[in-house]
Amino acid sequence: MGKTLITGGAGYIGSHTAKELASRDKDVVVLDNLSYGHRDFLQWGEFEEGDLEDRAFLKDVFARHSIDEVVHFAAFIAVGESVEKPRMYYENNVRNTLNLLGAMQDAGVGRIVFSSTAAVYGEPQTPTLAEDHPLSPLSPYAWSKRMVEQVIRDYGKAYGLKSAILRYFNAAGADPETDVGERHQPETHLIPLILHAALGIRDSIKIFGTDYATPDGTCLRDYIHVTDLAEAHALALDHLAGGGDSDIFNLGNGNGFSVREVIDMAREVTGREIPVETAERRAGDSPALVSSSEKARRVLGWRPRHADVREIIETAWRWHRKDLKR
Ligand code: UDP
Repeated sequence: MGKTLITGGAGYIGSHTAKELASRDKDVVVLDNLSYGHRDFLQWGEFEEGDLEDRAFLKDVFARHSIDEVVHFAAFIAVGESVEKPRMYYENNVRNTLNLLGAMQDAGVGRIVFSSTAAVYGEPQTPTLAEDHPLSPLSPYAWSKRMVEQVIRDYGKAYGLKSAILRYFNAAGADPETDVGERHQPETHLIPLILHAALGIRDSIKIFGTDYATPDGTCLRDYIHVTDLAEAHALALDHLAGGGDSDIFNLGNGNGFSVREVIDMAREVTGREIPVETAERRAGDSPALVSSSEKARRVLGWRPRHADVREIIETAWRWHRKDLKR
């Protein structure tokens, strides 16, 4: 059995997935340039430090390791930033993925699990989103993921590349054993920012938009525990290795929580004051992204184990206190 290459494996979802795959006795190679990844998240498998921009490096990695399959996380992920700096997003997320896919093809590696996003759906036309919901990306970030989905499917048709495209809803929480967790620099995500406010690292949390057509006017999101996402990657790899068809899978719990509800829940979990400010809408945000993940359950046998948003916030809280020594 060959190895599993994890690009972006020193990042948030990538490191949790490295832990999950290692616990299943897979030989893991993490590839990361450590621009946003963390050296202390490299706890499982071998490590290759380098950039997907560097095609010679990629060729060398595939030459030196016997790789059977790839899980591709490495990407820029901030919606707001992508609106300001689309070039950065298209070059890193699209062009560098083309480099990776090319190196895979040259090395005869035919299976990939790709990190996509619920942001490809854009404006929801139904209360929950299934994989066949129309796509209308609202930001360069979402477009970059949408474009790569298309490339992967075209390579599948023409070259036989087998793929599982995973559309994550809002990844949140942390490893229950607190080996790894969420640490972005700068932090832009809701739950970590709320917990920073609870810890006094920032004065308040800003709510981006209170005039959306949602029950309390703030955006609805479907928060999914990062270890449940990690397990879905393991199941998707098994699915492809077992001869399963290429497919697209939503990964979420199917429950929408508003920004205000998440803040209230964090107040309960932490027992801290969390000062709130209201602010303008953030460019590129969808009003509501709530999944139907029935297909992942049916085809992959996926069952989220930490579906309770309170538990998601609790694991994040434990991690943040450890990581920030508070
Ligand atoms: N959000 C917010 N204040 C913040 C960060 C995020 O109100 O400081 C909102 C954001 O507008 C979105 C939700 O929280 O509706 C989740 O945002 P996040 O950046 O965590 O994830 P995204 O949905 O962009 O993937």
